[in-house]
Amino acid sequence: MVNNIAIEKAKTSKIKDVDFDNLSFGSVYTDHMLVCDYKNGEWSAPKIVPYQPITLDPSAKIFHYGQSIFEGMKAYKDEDEKVWLFRPLENFKRLNKSAKRLAIPELPEAHFMEGLMALVHLESDWIPKNPGSSLYIRPFVFASGKGFHASPAGEYKFIIACAPSGAYFSGKVKVLIEQTYSRAANGGVGYAKAGGNYAGQFYPTQLAAEKGYQQVIWTDDNTHEFIEEAGAMNVFVRINDTLLTAPTNDRILDGITRKSILDIAKDEGIKTEVRKVSVHELVEAAKNGSLKEMFGAGTAAVVSPISAFGYEGVDYDLPELADSYASRLKKRITDIQYNRAEDKFGWRHEVI
Ligand SMILES: *Cc1c(COP(=O)(O)O)cnc(C)c1O
Repeated sequence: MVNNIAIEKAKTSKIKDVDFDNLSFGSVYTDHMLVCDYKNGEWSAPKIVPYQPITLDPSAKIFHYGQSIFEGMKAYKDEDEKVWLFRPLENFKRLNKSAKRLAIPELPEAHFMEGLMALVHLESDWIPKNPGSSLYIRPFVFASGKGFHASPAGEYKFIIACAPSGAYFSGKVKVLIEQTYSRAANGGVGYAKAGGNYAGQFYPTQLAAEKGYQQVIWTDDNTHEFIEEAGAMNVFVRINDTLLTAPTNDRILDGITRKSILDIAKDEGIKTEVRKVSVHELVEAAKNGSLKEMFGAGTAAVVSPISAFGYEGVDYDLPELADSYASRLKKRITDIQYNRAEDKFGWRHEVI
């Protein structure tokens, strides 16, 4: 229990206006948010205030130089109304990894963890209980400091906002293997959850959408020969009975879902290989029938099965499997997240 975080309570709650049976993803926000300011070389004590707009100077560096990073995580409610987070320390560590790369001052662990716990505890009535529903949590940091000079800001804001969310769109997606644009480059910021990484994807994704694809699978920026990841998900491929995913590098986001799925797959006795997967190998496997599955993995959708991929004007369909790795692995990971199964990995973190 965290009791040293100052809380200014909202005068009225919006919760009565929320239709918990028809929640979309991340579009309704809870009554409170956590705010923490960086000024004069240090992070102030985090406090909880009513959810509200932020006022910024037009010269705030976030608008001009894009010093902006974020995280995405969820809180889950079990049958007994207990509240759980999934590997929250991993989100904290990754936020600081992103901060370092964008020359944003790193946050102390206690500010993040205690602030997060206090906020989720306060908003626990907002955690939906319908199957697949959860409280989506968005921690983010941006440059609030002023100045048109192209240099790191002197002031920053760390905020955590929460949005009760229904099960993420779970239909199968058709993806395009990108051959022109790149999401990230060697030595760049692809491994950081930096705002600009997503802005840069929107246009190529719009072009793919015009051709009938819902997502882009990014390839390496140098040769476009190896598949890397999707917009906000890591990518897994099953060839025969082996589960493959690309090794993380400075162009790929080190997903918490990705590494959890690798551990669960090993525990299930599924053969896994972390290695480069070429587009050529994928096309050959699709042609000879050894390509069984492809799916994305990330916090929002957990596991998102892929129905087909497009490459050089040809669509390659994936088979419909009765007992897919995607559904098996999704069940195992969500059973741990919602406290429906034993957590031998020690990933669950209770919020009390
Ligand atoms: C957030 C994200 C992921 C998934 O990470 P999780 O920790 O599993 O949610 C994968 N790729 C990109 C580009 C992302 O932004």
